[in-house]
Amino acid sequence: MSSIIAIIGRPNVGKSTFFNRLVEKRKAITENEPGITRDRQYGTCEWNGKNFTIIDTGGYVNNSADIFEKEIKSQIHIAIKEADVILFMVDSKVGLTGHEQDIADILRKNKKPIFLISNKSDNYNYDLYSNDFYKLGLGNVYPISSISGYGTGELLDEVVKVLPSQSENEENENYPKISILGRPNVGKSSFLNVLLGNDRTIVTPIAGTTRDSINSFYNLFGKNFIITDTAGIRKKAKVNENIEFYSVMRSLKALQESDVCIILVDAQQSLESQDLNIISYAQKNKKGILLLINKWDLIEKDHTTIKEFKKLILDKLAPATYIPIIFVSVLNKLRIHKAVNKALDIYSERNKRISTSELNSVMLEIINKYPPPSNKGKYIKIKYITQLPTKTPTFAFFSNFPQYIKQPYKNYLENQLRKHFGFEGVPISLVFRKK
Ligand code: GDP
Ligand code: GDP
Repeated sequence: MSSIIAIIGRPNVGKSTFFNRLVEKRKAITENEPGITRDRQYGTCEWNGKNFTIIDTGGYVNNSADIFEKEIKSQIHIAIKEADVILFMVDSKVGLTGHEQDIADILRKNKKPIFLISNKSDNYNYDLYSNDFYKLGLGNVYPISSISGYGTGELLDEVVKVLPSQSENEENENYPKISILGRPNVGKSSFLNVLLGNDRTIVTPIAGTTRDSINSFYNLFGKNFIITDTAGIRKKAKVNENIEFYSVMRSLKALQESDVCIILVDAQQSLESQDLNIISYAQKNKKGILLLINKWDLIEKDHTTIKEFKKLILDKLAPATYIPIIFVSVLNKLRIHKAVNKALDIYSERNKRISTSELNSVMLEIINKYPPPSNKGKYIKIKYITQLPTKTPTFAFFSNFPQYIKQPYKNYLENQLRKHFGFEGVPISLVFRKK
């Protein structure tokens, strides 16, 4: 499970510039599509071998002067509860404003690790206000320049030191953990209510920041599993006002804590950039993925509709066409049982091990029939394959020239692996090593 880091601060201090600098190397698969700027406020990063998710709170604030203060405050409360680390950014060219004193007062009362960053320290003028920044009582001040990159490496070195190690927090290993995700109104709460068999909405305690409070245990159709909860979002958001920011934080966290994500989409809206973003995020975090196209009752259909719908969706998902798609109606309880069983199947697939002998006997035959094309005059041979003992499926291909195997051939190998060994709904990794 990777940690969540939130960047807070008043508008214009440079939060999104900093965010872009951190995530630019790892663009979402949907990057080239128009109209998704709003969705790019969270991204995954890696520093010194530690993965984390960074969230730019700035995108969730309405900048009109009279309400922004209130919104920022509500965000800070949410960030303190849900994030693992908080980066509080100030502007070294402007110095402190009243807002920042208020923010610091809230932050000082909490135990979450906080880094005070004085951005726009592109030249010596950052010393000008640094005394004031120290007076906020938040410890060390980290001067950086989000534009030039100055100081960002030193900052990240310190930040990753306080992140929990990735193997921590892995309790309840034995039960599949499932999250139910999707945009507002796609039917998440209704789905959960159907699973529960009554109309009671689960509401998690507002103060709950521990893992247990967002996990609920289920026994359904004779099988045990845990739902890492995003329900109760609406209820809680009322308290916190900042509904969009809150639900994104909570969804990311639920996704991180789960093994399999059930992503609901409204059949009337089909698959849009926000859905593709969450799918891409799930893939990057190597979570099992099941897509449910809900409200199927509202679609006028004949015997070809499912096929046509499926094709449209697969085109948008490509190349991630290994994700199973089920057309459901939560309202009419159509294929709900099937959906839960599929999610549990995906969980098993994600834990599946293929023996080295089986892998080699199947894959080497395929490879020998259609070997990797030679590259730069090198004759490339793949000698053997083994599944690594990692938590999610990773296959190592040993070759004389691993660096010369190109992406299309890697895709071919992945397709062949899937064709013969399954792994439906599971992101798999292929690594190429020298032998
Ligand atoms: P946000 O509202 O906090 O997300 O701020 P933005 O990232 O949109 O930045 C606000 C303005 O500050 C933009 O014009 C940026 O180009 C500028 N800015 C951001 N970082 C730096 C920096 O390190 N140095 C300087 N000189 N300007 C910066
Ligand atoms: P959430 O915001 O994702 O939790 O969505 P809700 O569960 O609150 O559902 C939003 C609306 O969609 C509600 O009015 C539901 O009754 C309706 N809804 C949910 N599932 C279905 C379905 O399968 N068919 C139809 N027609 N409506 C549905």
